Amino acid sequence: MKINHLGIATKGIDEALKFWGDALGLENVHTETVEDQKVRVAMLPIGDTRIELLEATSEDSPIAKFIEKRGGGIHHIAVEVENIEASLAKLKAEGARLIDEKPRIGAEGCLIAFVHPSSANGVLLELVQKKSEQ
Ligand code: ZN
Repeated sequence: MKINHLGIATKGIDEALKFWGDALGLENVHTETVEDQKVRVAMLPIGDTRIELLEATSEDSPIAKFIEKRGGGIHHIAVEVENIEASLAKLKAEGARLIDEKPRIGAEGCLIAFVHPSSANGVLLELVQKKSEQ
């Protein structure tokens, strides 16, 4: 397993890129709107992983709610797994609370599923299985 990305909730990606891109020096290599999750994302590689900047695309987006409550910050950690169905089955068997029982399609066509923060010490955990490994 590895950390696929760290998700950071922002009020707006363009504004956030002034810091993460211009000031810090990371490069935005991929921007995409994920309709299913009502977010726009920007992917900034850093070492073997990436920072994912998240922006709400509608008022009922999970990111809009997060921003309203906290104003921004680390939203989730995404762990890359080989077989997301097997990982979900194991987590469920171990008693973890799953937000997604079945994988959904996320950014870059990956399969993704979220695990509730109540099962992960307050951290929203995203499982990611890369498209090429399906
Ligand atoms: Zn993510």
